[in-house]
Amino acid sequence: MSKRRATVNIEVCVACGVCANQCPREAISIYRGCYAEVDTDKCVGCGICEKACPANAIEVRDIEDMEAENGK
Ligand code: SF4
Ligand code: SF4
Repeated sequence: MSKRRATVNIEVCVACGVCANQCPREAISIYRGCYAEVDTDKCVGCGICEKACPANAIEVRDIEDMEAENGK
């Protein structure tokens, strides 16, 4: 099974903090009051934040896909 992690679209995020309050792993913090930032070492990809975000700014993605894209 591949690993999954939450990713934040910072263009869409309104820094409301809902995701940070809902995350059971306390993996999300609001960076300088501007946008949500995920600590990928703590995130377990459960998807709670993705469902909770009112702006649909969070997507839980396959970490191998992310690495493949970054390597382009
Ligand atoms: S997917 Fe789960 S563990 Fe990861 S940041 Fe979102 S709520 Fe936290
Ligand atoms: S719930 Fe969504 S809009 Fe609010 S801080 Fe988290 S990612 Fe940003």
